Amino acid sequence: MMRLEKCQRIKLRNDFERLRQGCAFKNAFGFFCKVKENLNNILPRFAVIVSKKIGKAHERNAVKRLFREIFRQEQQQLNPKYDYLIVARPGIIPNFYQLKEKFLNMCAINHKTFLSIAIDGTAASGKSSTAYTLAKKYRLLNVNTGDHYRTLTFFLLKNGFTTTNWQRIENCIQKFSLDTQFDGTSAHLTIDGICLQHDDLRSEWVNNNVAIFAQIPQIRQRLRAYQQDLVSLAKKFYFAGIVMEGRDIATHVLPEADVKIFLTADSEVREDRRRKEGEKDSIAQRDSFDVHSENNALIIDTTCLTLQAVVERIEQVLPSINLAPFQ
Ligand code: C5P
Repeated sequence: MMRLEKCQRIKLRNDFERLRQGCAFKNAFGFFCKVKENLNNILPRFAVIVSKKIGKAHERNAVKRLFREIFRQEQQQLNPKYDYLIVARPGIIPNFYQLKEKFLNMCAINHKTFLSIAIDGTAASGKSSTAYTLAKKYRLLNVNTGDHYRTLTFFLLKNGFTTTNWQRIENCIQKFSLDTQFDGTSAHLTIDGICLQHDDLRSEWVNNNVAIFAQIPQIRQRLRAYQQDLVSLAKKFYFAGIVMEGRDIATHVLPEADVKIFLTADSEVREDRRRKEGEKDSIAQRDSFDVHSENNALIIDTTCLTLQAVVERIEQVLPSINLAPFQ
C-alpha cells in the first residue's frame, strides 16, 4: 500500500503562492481544488486548507484526514508533476467515497473538451466491460443502457404487464420516477428510488422479456430522453466525458458522439460467454428482435480479442484528450 512521503506535503509559503496562480476547479460540493504544474516533483504533492467557518476543530481535522487519505490512496492516478491544493468550505459533506470521486473527476476535467463515446453492438459482444474499462481510465461517466431496459422490464413485469398485454404501459411508465445513482464512474438508473441488483437485472425472467419490451415505442422514448439527459449530468459532476453503450446509442441517443464503436462477435462465442457468467440468456432470440446498425462506427470483432486488445484498438481512434493533471 502506498504511503505518503514527507516531501509530498506542501508547507512553504512560496509554494502556496505559486498554487494560488494555478488552475482552479470550481467551488462545488463544498470544496475546490487548485493545481499547478511543478516539474521538480518526483511525486505529486498536496495541501489541504479547511475554512475556519467549518464547525469545530475536530470537524476540520476530520475533513483534513479524509482528503489526506484520498490523496494517499489515489496518488498513483495523479500526475506526479503537479501540486494540488484542496480548499474545503462550509457545506462540505464529509463522505469519503463521494469526496474521492468528486476530487478525481475535478482533476480529470478538461474544460475545453467533453468526450463522448458511443458503443453499440450485439448481446455479449463485450460492450459493458469495454465501456467500464474506458470510463475508469479516462474518468468518463459509464452508462449501460441495456441495464435501463432491464430495469424497466423488471418493474413492468412486477406491475403485472406481460409482453402481450402492454397497451396501458404508457400510463404506467409516465408514473415511474427515473433518477440516477452513481457508483464510482458508473451511473445506474433508479426507478422510484430503487436501484436493482445484478441478480434481478440478469434474471432469466428479465432476459426472456427485455428484447420484446424494448421494442415498445413509449419505452424507447422515455429511456432515450433519460439517457440524453445524462450528458448534462456528467458535465455537472465534472466527468471528462461520457461512454454510453447499447444498441442504438450512435444512431439515436448520441448521434453526435465523438467516437462511435460497434462491437460484435460470433454467436457461439457470445453464448459461451454468458454461460460462463452463469446466466441463462436467449441470445439468439434477442438477436432476432434487436435491430443493429453500424452507422459509420468503427467495427471491432471481439471473437478472438482480449478486453485489453479491444480497448487499445479504441484508443487508437480517441481524439487526443488532455487529461492533465491526470496521468
Ligand atoms: O445490453 P444488454 O444485453 O444488457 O441489453 C438488454 C436488452 O435491452 C437488449 O437485448 C435490447 O433488446 C435492449 N436494449 C435496447 N437498446 C439499448 C440497450 C438495450 O433495445 N440501447
